[in-house]
Amino acid sequence: MTFYTGFYMRMQPEATWIEKLAQGLGLIPDLTESVTEESEMLSPGPLNSYLPPEKWDDWEEYEATGWSRKKKKRYSIIPTSCFNCESGCGMLSYVDKETGKVRKFEGNPFHPGSRGRNCAKGPATINQIEDPERILYPLKRLGKRGEGKWERVSWESVLQDISGKIRLALEEGRNNEIAYHVGRPGHEGYMDRVLHAWDVDGHNSHTNICSAGARFGYAIWDGIDRTSPDFANADFILLISVHLESGHYFNPHAQRIIEGKNNGTKIAVMDIRLSNTASRADYWMATYPGTEAAVLLAMARIILKEKLYNEEFLRNWVNWQEWLEEEHPDSDLSLEVAVEKLIEHYSEFTPEFAENESGVSVQTIIEVARRIGRAGSRFANMNWRSASSGNLGGWQVARCLQFLSVLTGSIGTPGGTLPNTWNKFHPSLCSKPPAQKFWNELHFPNEYPLSHYELSYLLPHFLKENRGKMSVYFTRVFNPVWTYPDGFSWIEALRDEDKVGLHIALTPTWNETAYFADYVLPMGHSSERHDLISYETHVGMWVAYRQPVLREYARRQGQEPEFSYQVNPGEVWEEDEFWIELSWRIDPEGKLGVRDHFLSPYREGEKLTVGEYYRYIFERVPGLPERAAEENLTPLDFMRRYGAFEIKNEVYEIYRNPLTDEQLEGTEIDERSGTVLKQGIPV
Ligand code: SF4
Repeated sequence: MTFYTGFYMRMQPEATWIEKLAQGLGLIPDLTESVTEESEMLSPGPLNSYLPPEKWDDWEEYEATGWSRKKKKRYSIIPTSCFNCESGCGMLSYVDKETGKVRKFEGNPFHPGSRGRNCAKGPATINQIEDPERILYPLKRLGKRGEGKWERVSWESVLQDISGKIRLALEEGRNNEIAYHVGRPGHEGYMDRVLHAWDVDGHNSHTNICSAGARFGYAIWDGIDRTSPDFANADFILLISVHLESGHYFNPHAQRIIEGKNNGTKIAVMDIRLSNTASRADYWMATYPGTEAAVLLAMARIILKEKLYNEEFLRNWVNWQEWLEEEHPDSDLSLEVAVEKLIEHYSEFTPEFAENESGVSVQTIIEVARRIGRAGSRFANMNWRSASSGNLGGWQVARCLQFLSVLTGSIGTPGGTLPNTWNKFHPSLCSKPPAQKFWNELHFPNEYPLSHYELSYLLPHFLKENRGKMSVYFTRVFNPVWTYPDGFSWIEALRDEDKVGLHIALTPTWNETAYFADYVLPMGHSSERHDLISYETHVGMWVAYRQPVLREYARRQGQEPEFSYQVNPGEVWEEDEFWIELSWRIDPEGKLGVRDHFLSPYREGEKLTVGEYYRYIFERVPGLPERAAEENLTPLDFMRRYGAFEIKNEVYEIYRNPLTDEQLEGTEIDERSGTVLKQGIPV
């Protein structure tokens, strides 16, 4: 939070004799002086005031550490986005005009998700930038893998070596020997585009040891694997292993949960741990791990039995007819019968059964179920990780939780839980390569047909079984040696040069996996890189721009650096430009079709620049060109200046919008359910 660092001249108490002496000697200002022009200029404002954007180019404020000398500092204020979790909160970087370095970070009030607020990790980006142990230059291994010996090399030699190995693999049809294994992506659509351009099925993620369980539980309801709760407008909130202080989207979510709580929203937390959130909740259900689904089904049964469900929603928007026909073909096809049969179907899930399973009392289960039922369409909930990922069958937790949303008709409603796709922006890219023609069984093995996301934790075991090899293996913000359950298997695989030919670690900091790399390539922190960000932090849709702020500062000074590493600390680079340069070198003559996807959309036959990549996207963000024009800015310049743009807000119940003539073209209506279908798929 920012407040103007002016002094309360009129509110100063009578000066002490020491202060009077110091004033007399001119060591400190006259504390009794009346309001001066200066103190007027810097007069205190409310604590939630932010810097006026018209002053961002040249912001002046007193030094907090030099107040008695009235020392001033001048800054160029440049927005970017935090990269210390997935929320992508907006930050303002204070570039010190004296040193040309970033000095501190505060919240960006123009970011619709974070609204000017950050958690402690946002402003702490400055510690990452100034970390004395950070990697500042590209490093190449000397000696054996894992021996800890490195030499500094140039970016050009890195690009030549890696591109040569990828080119050879592509030319020899060994596309499945190239992989990019990611921890936290933090960008929209960038890497899929690169990997498709190379024609490799090379994306591997950490998701299967993380959110894949919950995602699967949601996806089998409506094909959408994440949710977006409208916490601020909810009447009742149920959080399952989601924490205000450490959970998913935690600053944007936390502020909206607290907003709801301040307006009377009641909160229940299901978690064996007495988290900070649980300690502030109205109900803490300390379920034994793995028993959450039993409690949720007991609640569903209570809602059904006590007729607390939303009949209109079930009748019109749920395919109960199909279920009845499948499970009870001899029954009448009516919603009433479907409800009766559902109660029978879940007869085992009594509150007593759930209490025995979970340790949560019958009374609490009944009370929370009734609260949920009465909240109706204003029931918001979230499950992320832990309960759904740490237990066998954990995916049922998200599935059963969504069942409560469906029963209460709180899908996509004010105060309910929305599909995340309503609140997440997908950019139009300057070139969209077709999906790859290869299927990589090292990532999606045939014997696991239901795997939702790559089975990444099996990779070292598959390599050990000689199911394949990695010729070029990138790890990016990804540290399996430390974070996966069997880190030693990863060490074993990474040490073996027959199994992993070239290992490149793209990382801003040292980690246990980078230690076993051939190249360790320093990538930028939040204020040192380009990325496009959009997440379902609330019932709106926004897009944000992460930008290398010293590059933007140079631009404001009339310079145009070619690459971000020229302005970042040392030679720290960023992935966006790295992938463009690498791809260009993989296909120097354009024979492999890779180059076609890295051509400028504005200069024929020329290499795409990172500025052009984002210019193309921002020119196509709905409403952004018009908003930028109001300030005589191009869309790209608007994003450079403000860092974020709200595309929509209050996106509710879009399934109730009438379909347009265009959407209705070529459709048919399923008589039994009333669903509008195009080629058999609901529109
Ligand atoms: S919530 Fe996440 S993105 Fe937001 S400031 Fe904290 S670490 Fe950064």
